Amino acid sequence: MLNIILLGLPGAGKGTASAPIIDKYHVAHISTGDMFREAMAEETPVGLEAKKYMDAGDLVPDEVTAKLVEERLQKSDVLNGFILDGFPRTTVQAELLDQITERLNKPLSKVISIDVPEDILVERLSARYICKNCGATYNKISNPTKVAGVCDRCGGKEFYQREDDKPEVVKNRLKVNKEMNTPLIDFYDAKGLLTHVNGNQAPEKVFADIEAAWLTNIGGLFFSNLTKKCYNSQV
Ligand code: ADP
Ligand code: ADP
Ligand code: ZN
Repeated sequence: MLNIILLGLPGAGKGTASAPIIDKYHVAHISTGDMFREAMAEETPVGLEAKKYMDAGDLVPDEVTAKLVEERLQKSDVLNGFILDGFPRTTVQAELLDQITERLNKPLSKVISIDVPEDILVERLSARYICKNCGATYNKISNPTKVAGVCDRCGGKEFYQREDDKPEVVKNRLKVNKEMNTPLIDFYDAKGLLTHVNGNQAPEKVFADIEAAWLTNIGGLFFSNLTKKCYNSQV
C-alpha cells in the first residue's frame, strides 16, 4: 500500500503531480477541493455548507472536511493506496487524520511537500484552466494542451477557469494556506515522514523526485528490517 500526502500551497502542482502517480501506481486520488466542488455542483448538504467558505477562499471547517475524507477512504478503490491532495491543511486536520488512518488501518507511507516560490504561484493560478469533461489541469503559460483547445487526456474541447483563481481571491487563499502550512510541515517532519521536493521545475522532474522520495523510504525500511533480521539471527 502506498499511502501518501502531497502538501503544497495552492498552485504548487499537487493535482498535476498526482496524475502520473495514479497512472503508474493505481492509487486513489483524493482531492478535498475536487470533492467539495462536486458536492457544490450537486448541491448536497456538505456542498452548500462548503460553498460559504470556498467562494471567499477560506477553509471549510476541519470536522466537516475530515468526515468527508474518512468516508472517502473507506471506498473500495483505496485498496492499493491513496494520494491525499489538499488534505490535511491544518494541524487539527493532521491530528484527525492520524485517528482516521489508525481506525482504518491505513498508515501513511510518506508526506511530500512540493515547494514553489509565492510569486510563481500567483502567476500559475491566474493562468490555470481545467478540462470540463475529465478535470485535467493545464496552464496557459507553462503547461498548455498539446493541441490547442483539445484535452490531452480525453479529447474534450470545453475548459473552464476556477472562480477562486481570480486575483482577489488568490491572494486570500495563499495567505490563509501559508499560515497553516509551516506547522503542518513541522508536524510531519517530527514524525520522520516528510520530504521536500522542488516544485519549480518541469512536471516530469517533479514526478521523478517524488518517486525517488518514497523509493528511498521503502529502501530504508527494507534495509532496517534486514539489519534487524541479521541482528536477530546473530543473537
Ligand atoms: P495544485 O493542485 O497544487 O493547486 P495544480 O496541479 O492545479 O496545483 O497546478 C497549478 C497550475 O500550475 C496549473 O495551471 C498547472 O498546469 C501548472 N503547473 C503544475 N505543475 C507545474 C510545473 N511543474 N511547472 C509549471 N507549471 C505547472
Ligand atoms: P487549491 O488549488 O487551493 O489547492 P483546492 O481545490 O485544494 O485548492 O481547494 C479549494 C477550496 O476548497 C479551498 O479554498 C477550501 O475552501 C476548500 N478546501 C479544500 N481542501 C480543504 C481542506 N483540507 N480543509 C478546508 N478546506 C478545504
Ligand atoms: Zn479532459
